[in-house]
Amino acid sequence: MLGEIRGEVRFKEPLCFHTSLRIGGPADIFIIPQDAEDVRKALAFAEKDKLPYFVLGGGYNTLVKDKGIRGVVIKLEGCLGRMEFHGEEATVGAGAGLSALIREGANLGLGGIECLIGIPATVGGALAMNAGTHDGAIGDFVSAVYFLYPDGTLGELKPGNGAFVYRGLQFPPGAVLLGARIRLTRRPQREIQADLKQRLKMKKATQPLALASAGCVWKNPSSDFAGRIVERAGCKGKRIGGAEISAKHANFIVNRGGATAADFLALMDLARERVWKQTQIMLEPELKVVGE
Ligand SMILES: Cc1cc2nc3c(=O)[nH]c(=O)nc-3n(C[C@H](O)[C@H](O)[C@H](O)COP(=O)(O)OP(=O)(O)OC[C@H]3O[C@@H](n4cnc5c(N)ncnc54)[C@H](O)[C@@H]3O)c2cc1C
Repeated sequence: MLGEIRGEVRFKEPLCFHTSLRIGGPADIFIIPQDAEDVRKALAFAEKDKLPYFVLGGGYNTLVKDKGIRGVVIKLEGCLGRMEFHGEEATVGAGAGLSALIREGANLGLGGIECLIGIPATVGGALAMNAGTHDGAIGDFVSAVYFLYPDGTLGELKPGNGAFVYRGLQFPPGAVLLGARIRLTRRPQREIQADLKQRLKMKKATQPLALASAGCVWKNPSSDFAGRIVERAGCKGKRIGGAEISAKHANFIVNRGGATAADFLALMDLARERVWKQTQIMLEPELKVVGE
């Protein structure tokens, strides 16, 4: 059945090659589908052999543990990358880059989603995480999400009814997001470009973008920014092995070189414990921790 997949199938693929943190052991079976039909075949293979599977987008918000992932990893970055613009709406595949969508739209004088610039993501990963900033999240602009149920049938989700939540999307367990329709707003190109430039400048000034990271480690609790709470707990700059709580932004843990998932998780424990002792706030991870 694996032989029917037209995309790539690899065995024991190191996942550190596929996460922005550059951390992670191997995936037993690693599939880069060529199209939605390949995704369907990968799901059928996992079902037939009773194997667990995990969907990876760009790996920009995922910490894979050191022994890797048993079963199947389906990586969508680079496939399902089509984008079509009709009026003030884009239909976009889950494997397309979020920034490519923003830039293509900008070239056509279609904006509205400038607040998402600088978030490294596939569209699928951005939808699953409801990625965003304090100015808005992708869910604010979505008119439909398309996905495959684990049995390979096609599903459609209309947002509303609270499907998009803070850094998450409630969709059927095990479903693979295939794409979405995104609402855009007509705006002079020059204005969009100036807005994007300004926002990227701000990101560069406040986030440790030169070092390997997975973005924000913790969700913001209702009372304050997680970064500020971690900083007040005296965690900025703390280091375990190759992992370090960024001195620039305390909600980022960066890989200074050679960090393991164990280092990263130990630093998360340290921050969580210190914050709990000082504030009685239990931090909740934003990034996804997977594997063994
Ligand atoms: C430097 C830096 C800055 C960042 N800044 C921000 C920011 O400002 N705001 C913000 O929200 N995030 C930010 N992040 C985090 C990250 O960019 C987002 O969470 C992004 O949405 C992750 O997309 P991805 O494609 O890499 O998803 P992945 O990390 O690959 O996956 C994340 C989760 O989504 C699931 N998933 C991915 N694709 C699919 C699919 N097609 N179907 C079903 N499930 C899927 C995965 O299973 C996993 O659970 C930042 C990260 C970095 C490294």
